[in-house]
Amino acid sequence: MRQRIYDLLRSVYGYSQFLGHQEEIIEHVIGGGDALVLMPTGGGKSLCYQLPSLVRSGVGVVVTPLISLMRDQVEALLQLNVRAGSLSSAQTPEEAHQVFQRLSAGALDLLYVSPERLLRPDFLDYLHQVPLALFAIDEAHCVSQWGHDFRPDYLGLSVLENHFPMVPRIALTATADVTTRAEILTRLGLGRARIFISSFDRPNIRYTVIAKNNPHLQLRHFLTRKSPKESGIVYRISRNKVALTCDYLLQQGRKALTYHAGMNSKQRQENQDRFLNEEGIIMVATIAFGLGIDKPDVRFVVHLDMPKSLEAYYQETGRAGRDREKAEALLTYGLEDMVMLRKFITESNADETQKRVESAKLESMLNYCEAFSCRRNILLRYFGETGGADCGNCDICLNPAPVWDATLASRKALSCVHRTEQIFGVRHLVNVLRGIESEQVLKHRHHLVSTFGIGKDLSERQWHAVFRHLVVAGYLCKNDHEFAGLKLTHACGPLLRDEQKVFIRQEPEEKFFSSVKKKNNYKRAVEEVFGEGKEDLWDLLRAKRSELSLAQKVPPYVIFHDATLRIMAEKQPRTLEQMMAISGVGKAKLEKYGPVFLRVVEDFIKHHRK
Ligand code: ADP
Ligand code: ZN
Repeated sequence: MRQRIYDLLRSVYGYSQFLGHQEEIIEHVIGGGDALVLMPTGGGKSLCYQLPSLVRSGVGVVVTPLISLMRDQVEALLQLNVRAGSLSSAQTPEEAHQVFQRLSAGALDLLYVSPERLLRPDFLDYLHQVPLALFAIDEAHCVSQWGHDFRPDYLGLSVLENHFPMVPRIALTATADVTTRAEILTRLGLGRARIFISSFDRPNIRYTVIAKNNPHLQLRHFLTRKSPKESGIVYRISRNKVALTCDYLLQQGRKALTYHAGMNSKQRQENQDRFLNEEGIIMVATIAFGLGIDKPDVRFVVHLDMPKSLEAYYQETGRAGRDREKAEALLTYGLEDMVMLRKFITESNADETQKRVESAKLESMLNYCEAFSCRRNILLRYFGETGGADCGNCDICLNPAPVWDATLASRKALSCVHRTEQIFGVRHLVNVLRGIESEQVLKHRHHLVSTFGIGKDLSERQWHAVFRHLVVAGYLCKNDHEFAGLKLTHACGPLLRDEQKVFIRQEPEEKFFSSVKKKNNYKRAVEEVFGEGKEDLWDLLRAKRSELSLAQKVPPYVIFHDATLRIMAEKQPRTLEQMMAISGVGKAKLEKYGPVFLRVVEDFIKHHRK
């Protein structure tokens, strides 16, 4: 059996090794066992039910919540010459009829269906007459009533246990939390399932968090390191900001689109389709954008406003780099974000318990932003993993910045808030501390208070960092009566009495900025991967892929993943045999595309010799 599944892995998918628990899961399901699979996005869940469906006799029935997901998966399988089909409400009766014919003839290995389609009584009856390899329930967290992706139809899937007691069922999700896990097991009747839990780490994603001062400029600088062919998502908190950022990117000559709940569904669908099918689109969106975005080559996710919890942040950033290639997550956060998110919670209609839960989540988010130690470890610990050595792939690991003792500065700041009657916002307070006679300062006669000019030793940016930290640490909070005003909290006592110390990380932001002023950062980034000169081949291979994908009206990644093209550019195969040895090139793709891509490599080598 082992040999068999390795042969299939090689010949169908073009991979030589399994990832994580894949092999164990596949063997367990082939043996007829039920399973619950918890794996992060990009962990390789699809193989866990696809391979057993190829090995076991009968068809593997895969339940997915969204038609768009179905379409992409089926398309990808057809490219591998796997006999796959789908049934959905989007089909014409003729199309559906054809699928039924193939089902009856035993000519399908995988069938994708929506839960409501599967649960139609006539369809369940029909399935009793067809040999079934397994049921796979993808995005199984949709069964959770408390989650954000709840789909009532998923609850009905509990009937599968009674209807088909002999058919193994495998539920899969990328949601980490323990409550959802328990819910999936009970609601789907998976009492006998073996549970496979992987680490939720996403090692290919680089996390960077910076203080927000001019989000558009910061975004622009970030993008100078990205090729115009890379796709990404920029999250903003409101529709209005989505529109502003999209305009800004368009002015910068980027391909940008918007997505938010205020658009009609046709516009949204159009933009989403373009994002999936074209290269180099930046989707500027509210959190309405995301579920069912199965695009593997999203290269970056930027949050220009702070998310309300680490759960949301991790899920949203997790949409980057599903293909396991290098990806980036950038967050810019500022004092206004914190103050506003806290205000949302206090002013919401939720009950007290709910508010407490939300506040605690927000605090974890804030602490993550202000952290001094490896971001990844903080995330993993938050999600219940033990964490490990520093990751080497987050801003803090990459730019270890000194921490400075801000105790005295903090006391000056608190004292300044106190002297100016606890009604002013940060900008004014910083002016007072730095001794700047602004119009406001003079108007309120704050050039006469004792804290005027006692903070000239620190820059404006440093003072902003101090205030941000004081808000995060709970020494200051918003004054409810004043628009941006801050007031002291009870927590200040020990700090004012010098019984507590405050440490702040020095922001290495200047470095972040200076590195982007240099021209051609993208070129350098590519050269880092390939060595000088070879990036041209990478571009040529991508161009060929675009051409093929346009001709077939399928997304580029369905032809070859970025990883596969990257290895091709590195190895420069000259024969079909060498091509077949590249990860991601199986038999079907070798036949379809091997010769075309070999020619690209050959032409490139010829040109290079000249
Ligand atoms: P998930 O559904 O968990 O997000 P996918 O099944 O889409 O993950 O797989 C993520 C990526 O990993 C895809 O690009 C897939 O082709 C690749 N992949 C899956 N299994 C393997 C493997 N054994 N070796 C190499 N790449 C793999
Ligand atoms: Zn790190």
